Amino acid sequence: MKLSTAAPLADGIRQLPDPQRVRIPLDGKHKPVVKKKQVVGKGQVLAETTSSGPFGVGFVHASIDGIVEDILANAILLGPLPAPAEGKEPPIPQRPAPRQDHTGLSGEELVRWLREMGIDTDRFHPNRTLVINGLNPEPGVSIAEQLLRDERPTLDGGINLLERAIRPGNVHLVIAKGSGYGLHGAHVVEVDPIYPQTLDALAMVAATGSENPEAADVIGISDLYRVGLVATTGLPLTESVLTVAGKAVRVATGMAVGEVLAAVDVAVPVRGMVILGGPMTGVAVSSLEAGVPENCPAITIVPPHHYPLPGPHPCINCGECVLACPARIQPGMLSRYAEFALYEETRPRHIAACLECGMCTYVCPANRPVLQLIRLAKRKLEEQDAFVATCRLQDE
Ligand code: SF4
Ligand code: SF4
Repeated sequence: MKLSTAAPLADGIRQLPDPQRVRIPLDGKHKPVVKKKQVVGKGQVLAETTSSGPFGVGFVHASIDGIVEDILANAILLGPLPAPAEGKEPPIPQRPAPRQDHTGLSGEELVRWLREMGIDTDRFHPNRTLVINGLNPEPGVSIAEQLLRDERPTLDGGINLLERAIRPGNVHLVIAKGSGYGLHGAHVVEVDPIYPQTLDALAMVAATGSENPEAADVIGISDLYRVGLVATTGLPLTESVLTVAGKAVRVATGMAVGEVLAAVDVAVPVRGMVILGGPMTGVAVSSLEAGVPENCPAITIVPPHHYPLPGPHPCINCGECVLACPARIQPGMLSRYAEFALYEETRPRHIAACLECGMCTYVCPANRPVLQLIRLAKRKLEEQDAFVATCRLQDE
């Protein structure tokens, strides 16, 4: 069965009101620069990154006016401003003014500016071919085409800024056949919107004809939208745009999943599952208080009994996952090594080539959590590599 990512678009992208509380996700590379109980204004920097170069993870900013309620390893929690003590003035959050200082910048200085404004810049390398993936990423997630249809000025603002920042040699825009979208200065490549051909790595193949082109980077249309947003407003990134049950919404980063669902009148069925992301690659949340990350393309609701739940079932060695795997590796074998914590065995079997598309889990007749086991092995190998790197640094 072919999994099409074609989907009807919503009438427009709906802006949801800012919530009173947010839970803004951090990753291991962020270092908080605020303290508990500090009053912060929307757009103020909450966390910087540990490396000082221009390329890497973007800074994290407050998405509402509020007070820092807690700082956790993986999130900063902001809540409403407290009532002032009797006879005292209420605290006034300081919102940063719009910055247009990027207009005189170019090259690495401009990439660094983007990073300070909250943009992840690890795929913005200078003087390379740039492939922009304008395909909806997964079945049921239509935010890519929604942005191409409704946010053309912002996307063109993003292209203009990237032209100054990284001077790409060629720019290719990959779109669904017959959709007719375009972008300023981009060469359009049309493909059938069939999953997993819509993934970034396979959009790169469609645009360049090569799986590992020497001098090319691929970004999603949502990445370009975020660049365009900070370029045209001069304000840091504080919002996410995503598909929620067929609707397109713009929300404050870190807004609770439960509040987003309530705002668009989507109920979670009893024993249903809520997924951050699409149905193929998303991750189920354990609490509706989880905050929406800035790069989350969708919130997906899976009704009970809609799919058979994966479980720790033995592999029957049927080979279905091998036939479905776009990376041409052996998902079943990798999942078995991961299951028994033999993570090192997965390296020579090309686990690094896995695109995390989820096709193996989707087709597995034994309902094994193949993708989840592969992700586990990948994270364990990353931890080991980071540990080894630390030991080397100490030896030097
Ligand atoms: S998730 Fe599974 S099917 Fe997809 S690339 Fe990885 S191993 Fe292959
Ligand atoms: S599809 Fe499932 S049962 Fe079949 S080989 Fe792959 S992991 Fe094993």
